[in-house]
Amino acid sequence: MTRQNLLTEPHRWDVTRVAAPGALLAFDFDGTLAPIVASPPDAAMRETTRVRLTELARRRQVAIITGRALADIEPRLRGVPTSAIVGNHGSEPSPYMAAARESVAAWLPVLHAAVGHLSGLVIENKGASLAVHYRHASSPEAARAAIAAAVRRLGDGVRHMEGIEVVNLVPVGAPTKGHALARLRAECGASAVFYIGDEETDEDAFAVLDDDTSLAVRVGASDTSRARYFVPSQSDVDALLDLLLAATEAYDTVPPDPVGRSAPDRSAAP
Ligand SMILES: [Mg+2]
Repeated sequence: MTRQNLLTEPHRWDVTRVAAPGALLAFDFDGTLAPIVASPPDAAMRETTRVRLTELARRRQVAIITGRALADIEPRLRGVPTSAIVGNHGSEPSPYMAAARESVAAWLPVLHAAVGHLSGLVIENKGASLAVHYRHASSPEAARAAIAAAVRRLGDGVRHMEGIEVVNLVPVGAPTKGHALARLRAECGASAVFYIGDEETDEDAFAVLDDDTSLAVRVGASDTSRARYFVPSQSDVDALLDLLLAATEAYDTVPPDPVGRSAPDRSAAP
């Protein structure tokens, strides 16, 4: 599959597909709306991003689907009129939360015993999932090997997903970002769906967006992504938001076409 840079001609016009009223526009947070930072608790959107996302959320249904726990992400989105926020890689909220918490509670002492003493490693308990951060490890390779060995001790009930200097551990069978996106799409009866993310966990969401009424975008070019589109880096996300804003504005200002076309005239789009 050839992947296209969504910010270049003629591909930028494809955002029109997900700009109509009734569309669901969903975003990952870290590495997508917010730059990756040395210390994950410090992650925040740039003010320029916040302004754009807020305006977009006033016009369309905007959802955030993140690996962070809900209690962690919600304050970071304060003031943005989102229609939904899903945490823990898709499982929060869900009926699976109680079972996931049980699994995670059982993994914690095993992980602490195996890698808790290694300097530069941080085990983050997100309730329904765990993140083992190794950004500050002196040897990332050694840290990853130690984490992989520890994960093997947890048995086959754990799914591990590599992130950017982090390994995410979620229970096998837990709802994924793909499940969350499909659920939101059904709940709001979305006419079209957009999703953008930057990591392996986002591939679950890309996998459910495979028709002409959806648009999957990966942050950073990848030869293996299931997303058909990419933007080169997180710093390009404001430009992408501008495209979405221009496309939604075109829909909202163009009167209904008597011929019955569903898309606006391109001369009125970005
Ligand atoms: Mg991310």
